[in-house]
Amino acid sequence: MSLDTGDIHRTRTAIETAVDVIVEFWPGSAAPPPQPGAKTRTVPASKPPMPVHALNARDAAWRDLRSWAQFVMGERDLTVGPRTTDGPDLALFLARHADWLARHEVGRYCEAELHRHARTLRDLATGSYTRRFPVGACPEPVIDDAGVEVGRCPGSLFALMRREDAAEALLPKVVRCDADREHVWSPSQWHALGKRLGHIETGRMTSYTYRTG
Ligand SMILES: [Zn+2]
Repeated sequence: MSLDTGDIHRTRTAIETAVDVIVEFWPGSAAPPPQPGAKTRTVPASKPPMPVHALNARDAAWRDLRSWAQFVMGERDLTVGPRTTDGPDLALFLARHADWLARHEVGRYCEAELHRHARTLRDLATGSYTRRFPVGACPEPVIDDAGVEVGRCPGSLFALMRREDAAEALLPKVVRCDADREHVWSPSQWHALGKRLGHIETGRMTSYTYRTG
């Protein structure tokens, strides 16, 4: 596999970005904020107030961070490793070696894993742990600088649904395009979106709306 300098720079930047997210959201991912309207429960003193899925996600992230740190240590024959074996310190250690990782043939795998964990930790910390289901192709036109429609957005639409919502009502909070962040539809716009799509999936979407009345 040959890597050009653009690839290396992109991978390095992506690793550093993922590490920033991991470090920022690691503490909050242990105790996600309560959902609005969620019933407050008294937690027995003997049990840590940590949801099981948060623990598993952090365990998985920590194991991978440690593996990558051990890999870097071994491959580079380093005597000085991460400051501690905490998740953020392991991540920061990887950021210090991001350029070397980006030049290594496994750099892309490292990048992909770090990004997957970064997303999960962020979602846990912000309480927006979501499930996605596909809705269809994005119907938005692509407009060039002169205001002329030059084609269709290449993105796919996904309805994003919070885990917590699933138990109560299957109401997706938002429909979002994966190619352009500006392409977002709130529940009040789904009917119009459904008409533009003319898809059976949007029938499912609106039935969710009716269910919650
Ligand atoms: Zn789009």
